[in-house]
Amino acid sequence: MTKPDTDHPRDFQSLPLQQPLLKNLQDLGYERLTEIQAAALPAIVAGKDVIGQAKTGSGKTVAFGLGVLHKLQAERFRVQALVLCPTRELADQVARELRKLARAIHNIKILTLCGGMPFGPQIGSLKHGAHIVVGTPGRIEDHLRKGNLDLGDVQTLVLDEADRMLDMGFQAVLDQIVAQLPPQRQTLLFSATYPKTIDALATRVLRDPVKVEVTTAH
Ligand code: ADP
Ligand code: MG
Repeated sequence: MTKPDTDHPRDFQSLPLQQPLLKNLQDLGYERLTEIQAAALPAIVAGKDVIGQAKTGSGKTVAFGLGVLHKLQAERFRVQALVLCPTRELADQVARELRKLARAIHNIKILTLCGGMPFGPQIGSLKHGAHIVVGTPGRIEDHLRKGNLDLGDVQTLVLDEADRMLDMGFQAVLDQIVAQLPPQRQTLLFSATYPKTIDALATRVLRDPVKVEVTTAH
């Protein structure tokens, strides 16, 4: 595991991000990077696969969100990023944070697809299309199986709170979803803990990943 060191950037403005994203971060009052952001963002923005181990509240959403948005092509109205979260609450939180970050880019559509919600409106939204889908594994797999969702253009896969997803028994479903994604993609895996099961998942799903571990909250 790579420990954060003094070579890491300290401020958002020193990152090689698109100018509108940098301006928006300034408007949002985000100045200093949290530790996980400083450790992970250079590799994320460079397009590498990344395993990030850090606690809740350490700023992981901004880390992967900037990576997703930096390379998103707004004019291509296809699903270019898939973010998988263990629960609806977490998916809603992630979508909210991504929408804040995406304000800088016009007409970015972020769709949440979670279990416990009716199918009808989700199918309707899918017909309109989206740039980013955030959801829970069971419902995403359901839409894939029914042919409602095409993930053939996904460039970034994010597994958020991967340890919780495995605890909830999503391993087989995750593998089924990953099988539908282009092999040429960037994969970002975040987890608060790093048991053997996560290591095995990472070995199956990520390519030559950069590992970053942050033990403090900020
Ligand atoms: P995690 O996913 O690690 O639990 P979040 O990404 O949800 O953490 O971030 C926690 C909170 O910190 C959010 O409210 C987010 O807006 C805020 N935040 C994230 N990064 C920064 C930053 N660099 N500066 C200030 N606030 C931040
Ligand atoms: Mg989070």
